[in-house]
Amino acid sequence: MSTPIYNFSAGPATLPEDVLKQAQAELLDYQGTGFSVMTMSHRSDLFMDIMQRAENSLRQLMNIPNNYKVLFLQGGASAQFNMLSLNLAQGFKTINSVVTGNWSLMANNEMGKLVDAKIHVAAHAGELYNYNNLPSPSAWQLDESAAYTHYTSNETVHGLQYQALPTAALTNTPLVCDMSSDIISRPVNVNDFGVIYAGAQKNIGPAGTTIVIIREDLLERSSPLVPSVWNYKSHVDKEGMYNTPATYPVYIAGLVFDWLIQQGGVSAIEAKNNEKAAQLYAYIDSSDGYYKNTIDAAVRSKMNVIFHTASAERDAQFAKEADQAGLKLLKGYKSMGGMRASIYNAMPLAGVEALIKFMDEFKARNA
Ligand SMILES: *Cc1c(COP(=O)(O)O)cnc(C)c1O
Repeated sequence: MSTPIYNFSAGPATLPEDVLKQAQAELLDYQGTGFSVMTMSHRSDLFMDIMQRAENSLRQLMNIPNNYKVLFLQGGASAQFNMLSLNLAQGFKTINSVVTGNWSLMANNEMGKLVDAKIHVAAHAGELYNYNNLPSPSAWQLDESAAYTHYTSNETVHGLQYQALPTAALTNTPLVCDMSSDIISRPVNVNDFGVIYAGAQKNIGPAGTTIVIIREDLLERSSPLVPSVWNYKSHVDKEGMYNTPATYPVYIAGLVFDWLIQQGGVSAIEAKNNEKAAQLYAYIDSSDGYYKNTIDAAVRSKMNVIFHTASAERDAQFAKEADQAGLKLLKGYKSMGGMRASIYNAMPLAGVEALIKFMDEFKARNA
C-alpha cells in the first residue's frame, strides 16, 4: 500500500473512501443483479430505484418539504445560471443579483441572456470590500418586483461564506441560491428558498449531475416556449426521466448521502466542518503573518480556505513541496494565486492536521 494522500481539490473533490470502496465492490455486479450501474437502462426498475433512494436520502438529510421537487440535471451549476432565468424570469423586468465572488459574478453575467429581464446588482462585495467581506443580506438593495434574488452561499474561489443565510422574510422575491460548494455541509431551512442548486462535484459526488431543489409553485412560471431540455417543468413532469440522467454520478451521490446519514447527518458533519476550519484558520492567524488570509473572520469559508505566503515564488514552492508530501492540489485558483485548501465533508480532520503540520515545517524551513 502506498501512503495515503489528502486531496484538497476544490472540485472534482475528494470523496469518502467508504463510498469509493462500495462503488468498487459493486462496479461489475450491482447487488447480485449481474449489471454494472453504468450499463443499466435509466428506465429500468433497478436504476429508477437507485435514483428514488438518492432523492429520498437527500430529502431526509436536508429535511426537504413535500412542496419542493428534487431534480438531478446535467450541465453543471453553470447551466443553471441560464436555466433559472429562462424559466423564472419570463414577464419580469429585473433579476436581483448579489455579487460576492467569482461564481456569483459568473451568474450575474449570464442570467440576463435570452430574457428581457435586466440584472439589478443588489450588492457587490468586490466594489464594497474587495472580496474581503460580504454585504449582509439586510444591506442588499433589492428590487421587490424582481423575478427572484440570486446569491451564492459559499464562494469557492474567493473563500467567502455566508455564515447566516437570509430567511424568506427578507424579501417578497424567491431566494435562489447557488450552494454548489457548501450544500449538505450544515443545516439550512429549505423553506427559505425558491430554488437551491448545486453541481455535485464539490460536496456531493463526481462531476456530471447537478441537484436542483425547486418550490413547486415556481414551476408554473416555466413557459412551454423554453426548450424542453432546459425547462424545469419537462423534467418534473417526466419525473427526472425527460432525457437520460447522469446515471452513475446519481448513484454515487446516493452513496454519499447514505454515508452522510451514517455520520449523523448535516448537524453532525457541521460540527466536524467547524472544527476543521477553526483549526486551520487558527494556525494561519498564529503564524506571525507567514501565512495570510485577509478575509473578515465572520465570513471566512469553512469549505475553501485560501491563504498565501509573502511571494508568488514561495507559494509555488509550497504547493510543489506539499504535493510531494502527499497533500494534493493546494494551488489556488488561476486568477487568485496563493493556496486553497478545500475541506469539504469528505476531508477528515486528520487531513487538516497533516496540512497544518506541513505548513509549520515549511515555515520553519523557509522563514
Ligand atoms: C464550481 C462552481 C460552479 C460551477 O460549476 P460547474 O458544475 O462547473 O458548472 C458554480 N458555482 C459554484 C459556487 C461553484 O463552486
